[in-house]
Amino acid sequence: MLSPDLARIRSFEVVPSLPEPLKPLLDIAYNLWWSWHPEAVELFIRLDRNLWHETHHNPVKLLGMVPQQTLDTFSRDEGYISSLARVQENLQRHMTRTPWLQSTEHRDAKDFTIAYFCAEFGLTECLQVYSGGLGCLAGDHLKSAAELGLPFVAVGLLYRNGYFQQYLNADGWQQEYYPELDLANLPLRPVSDSKGNQVKVTVDLPGRVVHIGLWLVKVGRIPLYLLDTNLPENEEDDRGITSQLYGGDMETRIKQEIVLGIGGVRALEAINIRPDVCHMNEGHSAFLALERVRRLIEEHDLSFDEARQAGAASNVFTTHTPVPAGIDRFPPDMVDRYFRSYVPGLRLDMEGLFALGRENVFNKHEFFSMAVLAIRTSSWANGVSKLHGKISRHMWQGIWPQVPESEIPIKHVTNGVHARSWLSSELMYLLDRYLGARWQNNPADQSVWKAVMEMPEEELWRLHERRRQKLVIWARRRLRKQFEARNINPDHIAAAADALDPMALTIGFARRFATYKRGNLFLRDPDRLMRLLSDADRPVQFIFAGKAHPADGGGKELIRQIVKFARESDAGHKIVFLENYDINVARYLVQGCDLWLNTPRRGMEASGTSGMKAAMNGVLNCSIMDGWWDEAAEPDLGWSIGRGEEYSNPAAADDLESRAFYDLLEQEIVPLFYNRDSQGIPRQWVTRMKKCIASLAPGFNTNRMVQEYAEKLYLPALRRGRDLTADKLKKSVELAHQKVRLRGAWGKLRVDMVQAKTEQAMGVRDALPVTATVYLGELQPDEVKVQAYTGPLDTAGRIVGGKPVTLKHDKSLGKGKHRFTGEINAINSGRYGFAIRIVPGDEIFDITPEPGLIHWEGVKSKPAAAEAVVAEAEQAAT
Ligand SMILES: *Cc1c(COP(=O)(O)O)cnc(C)c1O
Repeated sequence: MLSPDLARIRSFEVVPSLPEPLKPLLDIAYNLWWSWHPEAVELFIRLDRNLWHETHHNPVKLLGMVPQQTLDTFSRDEGYISSLARVQENLQRHMTRTPWLQSTEHRDAKDFTIAYFCAEFGLTECLQVYSGGLGCLAGDHLKSAAELGLPFVAVGLLYRNGYFQQYLNADGWQQEYYPELDLANLPLRPVSDSKGNQVKVTVDLPGRVVHIGLWLVKVGRIPLYLLDTNLPENEEDDRGITSQLYGGDMETRIKQEIVLGIGGVRALEAINIRPDVCHMNEGHSAFLALERVRRLIEEHDLSFDEARQAGAASNVFTTHTPVPAGIDRFPPDMVDRYFRSYVPGLRLDMEGLFALGRENVFNKHEFFSMAVLAIRTSSWANGVSKLHGKISRHMWQGIWPQVPESEIPIKHVTNGVHARSWLSSELMYLLDRYLGARWQNNPADQSVWKAVMEMPEEELWRLHERRRQKLVIWARRRLRKQFEARNINPDHIAAAADALDPMALTIGFARRFATYKRGNLFLRDPDRLMRLLSDADRPVQFIFAGKAHPADGGGKELIRQIVKFARESDAGHKIVFLENYDINVARYLVQGCDLWLNTPRRGMEASGTSGMKAAMNGVLNCSIMDGWWDEAAEPDLGWSIGRGEEYSNPAAADDLESRAFYDLLEQEIVPLFYNRDSQGIPRQWVTRMKKCIASLAPGFNTNRMVQEYAEKLYLPALRRGRDLTADKLKKSVELAHQKVRLRGAWGKLRVDMVQAKTEQAMGVRDALPVTATVYLGELQPDEVKVQAYTGPLDTAGRIVGGKPVTLKHDKSLGKGKHRFTGEINAINSGRYGFAIRIVPGDEIFDITPEPGLIHWEGVKSKPAAAEAVVAEAEQAAT
C-alpha cells in the first residue's frame, strides 16, 4: 500500500453520470427537501429498493451505485419520467412560494437574514451530524422555516465521525464505535469561491491558526453551512476538532465551540452574509456573541459596552436545559488559555470576559458557563415549554438581583415537530383526502385539523394496524441482524422471527438513556409486569430504543437492566431493545406503536418531542406531567401519570409513579384497547386517536413554533437591532452611556414617603390613590419609572403574581425630590399589597430589565456585580 508519506496522492471526484432525462434526480438528491416528500423518496426507491436500504436512505450514494442498465431503462420509462417531472415541479414551487411573512402584518419586514446556530442538526438518517432531541428539533426548525420562506441561514459543524453508533454486547452493555462519513457520497457539497476553491476561514487557537472549510447542505430553500477542520493545512490534532459530536473531552469541546461560534460568524462573513439576527439554539454557539461585538468594535472604534448593546439587541438565546449539570462549563484556566489573545479585540481584559460567563463574578473558581454568556449577551431568551420557561426564570433569577421571578426576561416558545417529516405517508394520504391540501400548507391552523374528527374510524384503525404490522416485521429483521452480529446461538437468532405480536398493544419508549428519564420504571414491580405481559387474551408488549451518552454509566446500566430482564424472563419476545436509535428507528416507532411512554422525573424534561411525533400519528401518550405534556394533557387525549406532584425522595417517587403507571395500564389502557366491536374495532380508542391528532397536531408542530419565534423573538430583535445599529450605532452608544449614568446615580435613589389610604377596605372596582415622594439625585424624572408593584398577598405577606402600575410625575419638589401619583385597582376581593419601586424609564428596559437597576422602597439596591466588573475591565483595557 502506498502511504501518503511516500507519495503525493492526487484526489479526484467521481460523480454519478445520469442519462439526460434523469439528470433532475441529482438536484433533488442534493436538496434534503426530498426527505419530507414521500413522492420524492419514492423516485429513489423505485430505482432500487435494496440499494435504498443499503445506503441507509442516501439518494446521492444510491445514484452512484445503480447499474447503468437500470438507469437506461428508467430513462425510457414514461411513467417514471412524468413522476420525476411532477416532483421537480413541486420542488420548484417550494423554492419560489410566497413567504408566509408576506401574508401577515409584518410584510414590511424586508431584506434581512436570520442566522441559526446549533451544535447538531437532525435532518435525515443518512446525514449523521446529530445525536438526539436538540438536533432533531433544529432540523425540524429548518424544515418549517423553509416551508414558511423565512430569510434563514443555519450554521453547524460537520462531524466526520458523527455521533457514535451503538450496539450491545452479550451482557446488554452498550458499545460504541464511530464510522467515518463518506462525504463524497452524501447530500452536501463544499462551498466554492469564484475560482472553484473551497471557501475557508480561520480562528486562532493558542499558538496557531486553525483553518475551517465550509460545506453546504440544502434544506429546501434554506442553506445550512457546516464547518469542518479536517483540512490538510491544519495540524493533525486540529483536523480532529470537528470529528465527533459530544465525543471528546472538555478541551475538544471548547475548540469546537470556538469553531462554531467565532468560526461560524466568520464563515457567513466570507460568503457575504451579515446576519441581522443570530439565534443561539442552546449555549454551544454563544461565542458568536463575542465575535459579533468584536466586529462592531473594530469597524466603529467603540468600547465593548457601546457595541454590546446593538449585538445583544439582535441575539436570541434558547435554553434547553432545566438542570445546571446539563450546561457546558469550562474551567477558568482553559478559558484563559484560549481567549487571552482574543480579549484585547473586545477591549476587555480576562476579568471582564469571565464576568460575562459567571453567575457569581466574585467566585474566581466558578467555571465559565456558556449559558450565562449567552444570557448576558442576548436581549431575547426563551425556554422550550411553558413549564420549562418557568423553571428557567427560577434557575437564572440570580442574574437579575431583586427582580421578581415573573419578570425575569426568559419567555417560552414550546417546541414542535415537523409534521411532514414524522407523519406516516399512509396517514398523510388520508389527511389529504379528508382535510384537503390545507393541512400541508398551514399545519399551524387549528381549524384545518377539525375535519380529523370526521374521518371514518374503520379507515384510521386499519391504517394504524398496518403501521403496527410494518413496525413488527421491520423490528424482527433488525433484531435478527442484532443477534447475528453478536454471534448468539442459532436458536436465539431464529427466535427473532417470533418476537413481538403484530396484533398486541404495543408500547414504545425511545429516547436518550439518561437516568432521569427512568427507562426502567416499568420494571419496578416485575411480578405485576409479568402478569400484564403474559395475559393471553389481552397481550401487552414493549419496544425500547435509545443511546446512553458514552460517559454515562448510569444510563448504560438502565439499558442493561432492560435487556437482562427480557432475557431472563419468559417474556423475551415481548420486550425488545432495538439498537442504534436514530431518525429512521424513531419514525417506525412513533408511527407504529399504540402507546408512547414517557417517565422522566418531573422538571427534568425541558420539552420532549418524541411524544409529539407519536401524537400526530394518533399514538396515545402516557406520560409524567412534564415538559410539553404538562401543557398538552387533557383527560381524553392520552394518560397522565400523576398530576404534576413533586417529590423530595426519588425512591418514593419511583414507587408511586410506577404504581400509577401499572394502575393506568390495568384499569384503563388495556381494557380500552381491547374493547372491540363486532368489526374488531376499538371505537373508544380510535375516538381518542382522532381527538389526539385533531387537538395536538396544530399546536405542537414546528410551523407554529417557527411562526411564534418570528413574532415573539426574531422580528422584535430585528427591529431593535436595526434601531440600535443605525447611524454607526448611535443609539447603541447612547444606551451604553445611559446605563453608566443610571448606575452612577442608582445607589443614591430613595423613596422618602408613600401615601395611600390602606387602613380602610376598598371595594372591588374602587381605585386606591397612591402618592410617592422620591429622591432621584441628578436623574431627571423621565429617566426613571416610579411604580407601585401590586398584587395579592400570600400567607407569608409576599406579593404573588404582581404587576407594576407606573405612577405619573406630578411635581418637582426641588433638590432632586419628586412627587409621583397614580391609582391601584383591585380586580378581585382578598388581601392585596403594593410596594414602591424605581426602574429605568426607557421602554427598552421593559422587555429586558437591566441587572442591578431596580430600587425597592426600604431595600438597599444590589448593584450588578458583573456589569461593574465589565466596566472596570473596559477601563483597564484602554
Ligand atoms: C425525536 C427524537 C429525539 C427526541 O425525543 P425526546 O422525546 O425529546 O427525548 C431523540 N432522538 C431521535 C432520533 C428522535 O427522532
